[in-house]
Amino acid sequence: MPKHSDSRESSQENSVVESSVVDNSDVENSNIISESTSEEEREAASEQIEDGFSCLGLSDGFVSTLSKLGYQKPTAIQSEAIPVLLDGLDLIGQAKTGTGKTAAFALPLLSRLDLEEKSPQVLVLAPTRELAIQVSESFRAYSEGMEGFKVLAIYGGQSMQNQIQGLKRGPQVVVGTPGRIMDHMRRKTLKLRDIEAVVLDEADEMLKMGFIEDVEWILEKTPEERQVALFSATMPKQIKAVAQRYLKDAKHIKIQSKTSTVESINQKFVSVAPSQKVDALSRVLELEEYEAAIVFAQTKSATVEIAEALERQGHRCAAMNGDLAQSLRERIIGRLKKGDLNIVVATDVAARGLDVERISHVINYDIPYDTESYVHRIGRTGRAGREGTAILFISNRERRALKNIERATKQSITEISLPDSKAISRRRIEKFKSETLKNVERSDLDYYAAVIDEMTSEGELTHRDIAAMLC
Ligand code: AMP
Repeated sequence: MPKHSDSRESSQENSVVESSVVDNSDVENSNIISESTSEEEREAASEQIEDGFSCLGLSDGFVSTLSKLGYQKPTAIQSEAIPVLLDGLDLIGQAKTGTGKTAAFALPLLSRLDLEEKSPQVLVLAPTRELAIQVSESFRAYSEGMEGFKVLAIYGGQSMQNQIQGLKRGPQVVVGTPGRIMDHMRRKTLKLRDIEAVVLDEADEMLKMGFIEDVEWILEKTPEERQVALFSATMPKQIKAVAQRYLKDAKHIKIQSKTSTVESINQKFVSVAPSQKVDALSRVLELEEYEAAIVFAQTKSATVEIAEALERQGHRCAAMNGDLAQSLRERIIGRLKKGDLNIVVATDVAARGLDVERISHVINYDIPYDTESYVHRIGRTGRAGREGTAILFISNRERRALKNIERATKQSITEISLPDSKAISRRRIEKFKSETLKNVERSDLDYYAAVIDEMTSEGELTHRDIAAMLC
């Protein structure tokens, strides 16, 4: 990797090469327009997109892994960032989650690893455990077929001993939250002397959470020659200062999401009195065709009460809040991903960073405190270019908050009314009929038909009686 100095003194000389890209549809971008580049460069960029990942300088192995993962074309941030990082240069990537930024840094950094070396060469700092886990999972997915490659996620709330064991196994990539990374550095269980690249993922979130000094502390202890990639959705002045101080001749890539995540989400609201919310929730779940849903509640006890009520109605659901051990939360997310659970009732904190493609619906059972949380909550759906639905429960007294959300997201939220019990039971019947018809194809029907024939031949029951009893 190229050498560069990271001293504070050199910061004055740092220059930032800016390029600004419009990503029209988050991940499924098809149309990239570079605003600050020439016509030729624009053509070259669009050709790159046409030709896919191989033109960006990635090996055939990666191209085939990506095609197995269903990635057909690079996203805007990937087209811009991969060649820069492959060249070993520093980078500022201004892009939100959902733009494909993880692959944008993971793929080139994986390409540059020395797999013979069993020490950390890449360090990724992330604001939350959830993001750390997600990023490490992405590294794992992209590294398929790379013999001897190991990645480890380390974060607070998980056994220190397990992490020490994991570190002893010699991962080349370590992804972690700043606090726990510092703990390991102090104990000397994590040594950064072979670090070749550092990624600051969601730097503005790390700033918001008060981690920026920790990040700087860690950066100071990495080798001077390391490459740095800083990703941030926004560029507050403290982040710019970090970039000035620790990055050298960084290329600045800005992805302007024309279609913001919010726009791919169908937003609705329901007027409901606080005492009627549980009933309203079960009606919404009857009404909506959902694959998986996340229900947001304000308090930990509310998450448990709501989840219990839904379980009593036969829904496969779980509560997820800050009281649960991290390992349990991870298990819940795993079950949601696999489809063992269809509904998770969560607080904002517990659901931070949650990225499960199956989530088709976000239900704001309790209105969030501010519009920023609202945007974050609804961003749990509509992942990876999919469409999503967000439903907000609003009491009369909360109407003003609804207006604020509409103003902040620059979108109107449509009111829906909930079906009455007659319409719901009609819907249940329709659902039952279609579910039953799906079973026509089952191979074991003859076996059960024989059992029913036997029961009717015993004289007590008719076919109709048995069918009704089974409904
Ligand atoms: P990220 O912004 O890194 O959180 O990625 C958002 C989602 O997009 C993840 O679920 C990725 O698996 C997916 N993704 C990333 N790059 C691509 C691509 N080129 N094509 C299709 N999906 C992608």
